[in-house]
Amino acid sequence: MEKFGFSILKERHIDYDANDKSIAEYISEREPSFRICIECGCCTATCTTGNFTSFSLRELQILIKRGENDKVRDNIKKCMLCGKCTLVCPRGVNTRNVVTLAREAFENEIENAV
Ligand code: SF4
Ligand code: SF4
Repeated sequence: MEKFGFSILKERHIDYDANDKSIAEYISEREPSFRICIECGCCTATCTTGNFTSFSLRELQILIKRGENDKVRDNIKKCMLCGKCTLVCPRGVNTRNVVTLAREAFENEIENAV
């Protein structure tokens, strides 16, 4: 059978009310610049880790804000904290600190669960 160049996507919706936004709140309280990201992707374009892997800080920040934390928990550990993303961000988001706080929040989550 001949293949066509498209496929039907699975139905998907984001339930903002049901999702856990505690990680996003933890970051926002300590690093308010997290709120002013415009999702432009400059951080991802310059990212050292992103040059070698599919790591995307832009995507991870969006997922944290949506409360889709399961997709972030392990991925966020791949960042090398080099700080290049912070230098290029047009909004002045302290992205390096955002990553550090996100890791901290996930660690607290694990500690509290024990
Ligand atoms: S460069 Fe700054 S504004 Fe752009 S996606 Fe990254 S954090 Fe957001
Ligand atoms: S600090 Fe992390 S997210 Fe930012 S450019 Fe470096 S490796 Fe990428």
